[in-house]
Amino acid sequence: MRVLVVEDETRLAEGLRRGLEAEGFAVDVAANGTDGLWMAREQQYSIILLDIMLPGISGYRVCETLRADGNWTPILMLTAKDGEWDQIEALDTGADDYLTKPFSFSVLLARIRALLRRGAGERPTVLEAGDIRVDPAARRVWRGDTVIEVTAREFAVLEYLIRRRGDVVSKRDVLNNVWDDDFEGDPNIVEVYIGHLRNKLDRPFGRAAIETLRGAGYRLASNGG
Ligand code: CA
Repeated sequence: MRVLVVEDETRLAEGLRRGLEAEGFAVDVAANGTDGLWMAREQQYSIILLDIMLPGISGYRVCETLRADGNWTPILMLTAKDGEWDQIEALDTGADDYLTKPFSFSVLLARIRALLRRGAGERPTVLEAGDIRVDPAARRVWRGDTVIEVTAREFAVLEYLIRRRGDVVSKRDVLNNVWDDDFEGDPNIVEVYIGHLRNKLDRPFGRAAIETLRGAGYRLASNGG
């Protein structure tokens, strides 16, 4: 079992190396995101322990890049303290689990073993509606062969629509699933994002995937419009 530890705090990295080696793992350590990404691409690892705040490329980007490459090695994100990061974002980038520092070594070991049991199964795949494709793990969107750049919120709205493709979804459904539960702003914000998505996904291609059903809501056509 080979483990890659991507961690810039030298003492922690060395502590992890010693502890994991004592448990019978082979351990490689990278002290920044750039080296970590390179090593993860060069070597086959059983699991990657990935700090988020790293010199060079952040842990988020390392994770996202590996997933976009189709590398599904289990990734356990490590982070210094609550608030400096967003656990939802970590999981959205394709991480499998996360642990907040300081953590006990026995907890870390239990998490590692759980991830190893689960293995590196291929992640939920790309969602499709006709020639629109949405990759939730890598957060990428395509119309045909064209990559569509979207913001995080636009992505979330589109992901919700494509998961429910063919169904009519109300503005309220979108709000409840994409915004925080305590969102108290103007529900018409949904319309604004639908407009952005049409401008990116439909208009340039002369298509109309996102329908408005007056009084009812929206529907993403299963065939891509
Ligand atoms: Ca760090």
